[in-house]
Amino acid sequence: MSPQPASVSSTILDVLRTVVGAPGETVVPLHAPTFTARDAELVQDCLASTFVSSVGQYVDRFEAALAAYTGSAHAIAVVNGTAALQVALTLAGVQRDDEVLIPALSFVATANAVAHCGAVPHFVDSSVQTLGMDPEALERYLSGVVQLTPDGARNRLTGRRIAAVVPMHTFGHPVEMVRLVEVAAQFRLVVVEDAAESLGSTHRGQHAGTFGQLATLSFNGNKIVTTGGGGAILTSDPTLAQRAKYLTTTAKRPHRWAFEHDAIAWNFRLPNLNAALGCAQMERLPALVARKRELARRYQDALDGCDGVTFMREPEDTCSNYWLNTVMLQTAEAGERELVLQATNDAGYQCRPVWRLLHTLPMFAQCPRADLPVANRLEATLINLPSSPSLVEP
Ligand SMILES: *Cc1c(COP(=O)(O)O)cnc(C)c1O
Repeated sequence: MSPQPASVSSTILDVLRTVVGAPGETVVPLHAPTFTARDAELVQDCLASTFVSSVGQYVDRFEAALAAYTGSAHAIAVVNGTAALQVALTLAGVQRDDEVLIPALSFVATANAVAHCGAVPHFVDSSVQTLGMDPEALERYLSGVVQLTPDGARNRLTGRRIAAVVPMHTFGHPVEMVRLVEVAAQFRLVVVEDAAESLGSTHRGQHAGTFGQLATLSFNGNKIVTTGGGGAILTSDPTLAQRAKYLTTTAKRPHRWAFEHDAIAWNFRLPNLNAALGCAQMERLPALVARKRELARRYQDALDGCDGVTFMREPEDTCSNYWLNTVMLQTAEAGERELVLQATNDAGYQCRPVWRLLHTLPMFAQCPRADLPVANRLEATLINLPSSPSLVEP
């Protein structure tokens, strides 16, 4: 009699033990930040300056570091990634009752930002290779749905204007942006990249978040670089950059003492204290990316040749930050994914399913959408593995 084939759960558990080691007293988290003496030094310096809030040099320094690292001409730091996306969409011209194309497979913030503009998320499918928007599928879909008018793209079915498209670089893997930008131009859609997960990732050597008219980053505690909470808007357009700063800082006209505000605006600026942490973290970003890529290489090697499960490698022509390592189960059978989640979490490894597809959430259930065969399969079969940079020695 031939031996029973190992279950996928035990295969993945073996891989976790090999790559991550045995869990200690506490669970191995999905993603934990790392802090050094340098982080403490800059935060302490900020405290000592007393400029912890809306005035101080660290915001400018952090923005300059982001621009230099990504190759974006401008970076505007804000309170979080969701606010960044809401402002970027507004600057992109998204108005009440417009539709905005977003992937059904994304974090809820992408759809929330659209809704906060009074606009309607319009969900599209993803690619098995990149886990993000598929430009070819998008082109086919829009050819059927869009009517081009002097006013831009119109949805034939709902009558609403489709104003923008928001590709999201899932778990750090870049979307095929060169092609996506072409498709967007064909349908006269503004491209706003949700690059919240992809600081440190490139497509054809160009940083994620520098392909669209605008892009947004997040520095939440679980992202590759954290400021506690924070976000940024990237753009190469100086007018949009100036407007982003102005609208996120109460639309105040510069004056030594007068309170001159001439638009309804947001208080979305990133506090100087958070920016101080961001400056220290940005110094370490290249090292963090290197560690995360090394962790991904170890997972990939350990999973090589395993039955029933595939490691999701970076797409062709890209260099991913591998923010979250991801495996795909071969079978989409209900139950298989839950078994793996149960076994790994029971053993002390914080593994997670991907997000529920956004169109299945109650507040977005009525939104327009494409057929989502790939997104449905990805939702049923993807699992994220522990991905902290601290899992690799510096
Ligand atoms: C983290 C994240 C955001 C925004 O996050 P904040 O918590 O608001 O900083 C937006 N989109 C995606 C895909 C994200 O992962």
